Amino acid sequence: MPDFQHQINSAQPTAADIKNRRWIYIPYDRYTDRTGPLTDQPAPDTGIVIVESTAKALRRPYHKKKLIVLISNMRHFALEQQAKGVSVLYHFSPHSHGQALLELQRKRHLPPLTCMTPAERELRLDLATASKQGLQLRLVEDTTWASTTEDFLNTYGPFKPGKPYVMDRFYRRMRQQTGILMQNAKPIGGQFSYDAANRNPYKNQVPVPAPPVFTPDAITEEVIAFVESTYGHHFGITENFDLPCTQSDCDLLWHFFLDHLLPNFGRFEDAMRDDHLQLFHSKTSVLLNLGRLLASKLIRDVADRVAAEAVPLASAEGFIRQLLGWREFMRHLHEQTDGYRLLADHVPQEKHPRTQEISPDQTPTAANAYKLEHPTDPYAGATPSALHASLPLPAVYWGVKSGLHCMDTVVAQVIAEGWSHHITRLMVLSNLATLCGFSPRELTDWFWFAYVDAYDWVVEPNVLGMATYADGGLTATKPYVSGAAYINRMSNFCAHCQYDPKKSTGENSCPFTALYWTFLERNEATLSKNFRMQMPYNTLRKKSPQELVQLRTRAQQAVDRLQSFKRPTY
Ligand SMILES: Cc1cc2nc3c(=O)[nH]c(=O)nc-3n(C[C@H](O)[C@H](O)[C@H](O)COP(=O)(O)OP(=O)(O)OC[C@H]3O[C@@H](n4cnc5c(N)ncnc54)[C@H](O)[C@@H]3O)c2cc1C
Ligand code: SF4
Repeated sequence: MPDFQHQINSAQPTAADIKNRRWIYIPYDRYTDRTGPLTDQPAPDTGIVIVESTAKALRRPYHKKKLIVLISNMRHFALEQQAKGVSVLYHFSPHSHGQALLELQRKRHLPPLTCMTPAERELRLDLATASKQGLQLRLVEDTTWASTTEDFLNTYGPFKPGKPYVMDRFYRRMRQQTGILMQNAKPIGGQFSYDAANRNPYKNQVPVPAPPVFTPDAITEEVIAFVESTYGHHFGITENFDLPCTQSDCDLLWHFFLDHLLPNFGRFEDAMRDDHLQLFHSKTSVLLNLGRLLASKLIRDVADRVAAEAVPLASAEGFIRQLLGWREFMRHLHEQTDGYRLLADHVPQEKHPRTQEISPDQTPTAANAYKLEHPTDPYAGATPSALHASLPLPAVYWGVKSGLHCMDTVVAQVIAEGWSHHITRLMVLSNLATLCGFSPRELTDWFWFAYVDAYDWVVEPNVLGMATYADGGLTATKPYVSGAAYINRMSNFCAHCQYDPKKSTGENSCPFTALYWTFLERNEATLSKNFRMQMPYNTLRKKSPQELVQLRTRAQQAVDRLQSFKRPTY
């Protein structure tokens, strides 16, 4: 019998356990006993139910490393709880989580279950469906967050389409309310944000410490083999898996960041390198989103380092803004807009038969085909497209080499790791998609399966909102787009590229620049009145008709070339 099954089966709950303990369902993204219902009673009075669902894993071609880190943490969490005296009912099921729980509750005569409200809308929906069918489940507040729905509503009021949701307002409120980095009701150092100090390219000014490697133990090795045999057709590779899967390793990763990376985090937050892919980023998102690390604790730890004068304020503030600001803001926006579905009547939507625009030699993804067949499915993702973008996502996102060194480097990293840092997500992967007019929904779906930290509540606002402006400016005050100049300034990618970042037209010119100007031209009616877009539009207006024709030709060549590569289907 496999190692994990043997260990978990050796302490199956007895009838007395089922009867006498309080039973808690642990969703796949809330592995914690540091907050929530597991802290309410001692271990000998607690029972937990965990479901490993094949249906969920097969719903998208999730990166194999995402499945490994999720399943291995799930199994380790089960064993950790068992060792503490908690009774564990670990259930393998081909069905969805909700259906599996329903079946299990009936078969094992489980009392009503308690559960922290899951972060993923998709799981909430699944559980709601099962509850209507008879599952007895009581949802309690998810206390892993660093803010509450009331905090968000008190800042902006109820959701109203067209209202600008500037993140800074929420962040300032949370700083004041929590007292984090505050003194006498004023921000320490005199400023709430040090964003402007955090925009340096990395040029070997300081060495980048090598991050810890978490060698898989027997349980993880078993999961790797299982994922390879069951989900071998999924995106990404399993080789060199080194993410933490036990609570102690997750804590170790966090302390490594605090001690070695945080001091330079802010300074090089926006930098990109092909020789230092992680730079000073924490790689905590995957663990935060699984519940292994808690945002409030991380924020406090960083604030303590400031109090001890152990890290520069700009670095600490930069990190805290990501967690107390962006992360919380994004999840509230997702919740308040029902995953951007409430924008449907107010923002142009992607034309649903988008697949009509796909050339005959390309196949729509299974997800899109499914959406076309089930247009009213409550699980189908929102499809805002304020800039009327709808071209199919090309093969370069699946690893077909494009010759664009920035894209090829980042995609190769995503295939290898299921992770890349924020600026590469925003200013390379999403920048190219927005400039070319690739479908925002398809890009969202790609990020959702390709990244180890992706869940609907975080990937949808980041891609449909911040990265592509598909929501028409709800999340970001302007589109995050750039030509080659920005990428060249902030990275060493261009130095190793066949294209010349200084040339915008003609042979060897970098396609990003021509794409940038034609993007502005194409979207003039929507964007030129935006106050923050005045400078680029003034420059665009100074371009001669001849130059504009050359830019359009170069941009069209680039799009045609990207679209000409055939991509794999799942
Ligand atoms: C197109 C796009 C897609 C993204 N998709 C995801 C996703 O699926 N899951 C995800 O967790 N983050 C996503 N992000 C946000 C951010 O890029 C990642 O959280 C971050 O890169 C994770 O790496 P890290 O842990 O090293 O982060 P660090 O740079 O070390 O930052 C610290 C923490 O701040 C939080 N954070 C920072 N920015 C954001 C943000 N915009 N939204 C939410 N949390 C944030 C994360 O929890 C992160 O762990 C996306 C951003 C973009 C532009
Ligand atoms: S030259 Fe253009 S394509 Fe090449 S790395 Fe720079 S921005 Fe990317």
